[in-house]
Amino acid sequence: MEKREPVLSMRDLAVSFQASFGKIRAVRGVNMDVYPGETVAIVGESGSGKSVSVKTIMGITAPNAVIESGTIKFRFKENGKEQVVDLLKLSKKEMQHRIKGKRIAMVFQDPMTSLDPTMTIGRQLTEGMRYHLHLSQADADKRAEELLEMVGIESPKERMKNYPHQLSGGMRQRVVIAIALSCNPDLLICDEPTTALDVTIQARILQLILNLQKKLGIAVIFITHNLGVVAKIADYVNVMYAGKIIEYGTSDNIFYDPKHPYTWGLLGSIPQADQKNKEALISIKGTPPDLHAEITGCPFKHRCSYAMAVCHEHRPPAFEIGEGHTARCFLH
Ligand code: SF4
Repeated sequence: MEKREPVLSMRDLAVSFQASFGKIRAVRGVNMDVYPGETVAIVGESGSGKSVSVKTIMGITAPNAVIESGTIKFRFKENGKEQVVDLLKLSKKEMQHRIKGKRIAMVFQDPMTSLDPTMTIGRQLTEGMRYHLHLSQADADKRAEELLEMVGIESPKERMKNYPHQLSGGMRQRVVIAIALSCNPDLLICDEPTTALDVTIQARILQLILNLQKKLGIAVIFITHNLGVVAKIADYVNVMYAGKIIEYGTSDNIFYDPKHPYTWGLLGSIPQADQKNKEALISIKGTPPDLHAEITGCPFKHRCSYAMAVCHEHRPPAFEIGEGHTARCFLH
């Protein structure tokens, strides 16, 4: 049987931010593999390091970000040959020309941050294809119409003439997804893609991403603070806390056999479909640790009802619970 190779392999990634009041250690040694055709979720509260990790993949962290350690190997085909590059070693120009928007595409929370309000939908859809795939305007227009149809937008020819403000929030996010898929990427990164939308539209956009992922066979990294979303979409789940992955497993492991007290807390906070206040979703008592300081022992110890003496003195390693299921907790 042919050996499966990950499309993306992150090892020991550590990222900090230099602030006027000291260094913030946002990501503290993250490992992650993403295979073709699979959806890997990263779940955690805001400030857990999930968005910083994926923005580092794309080379779009804030100017005060410092990569302290790590590699991010990305595997793709170029001119018929398989290539493996460390994304952290590529220049900005190489990232722009070879990777961003072409082989790795990203969908953000707010479609208006990705769309240019002064340009028509058609122009925004065709620009990337003209640049990366060297399509003629006529061919790019044709493919743009097909893409709009694929993401469920009616009358695509007419919609191409619209500006973003003429579309609803849900339609704008569909357009962003169409743009992200326009150059046939190997990896799609979705950073809270439904959080800004109302609940019924959220469900439709999630279903759309899931359908497209299965149809196109691409790898997806899905970032969310909402475990309920993950249940529908992910094959594998990384639960992130204070810059580390504290539990990893299949969706079934995390939902039916979770092993980390933080994951238990997140599962207790899964919102119902009629949840009105999205900000109140996570209700684990206490606050995450101060990311300026070195963390001694388990980062979750001050919020954990099961904390023992060892949790204050030693950092829990990733204990193997079962095949492909790990948890950083001394209960195991
Ligand atoms: Fe709680 Fe200790 Fe497990 Fe950390 S290691 S989650 S403090 S029991």
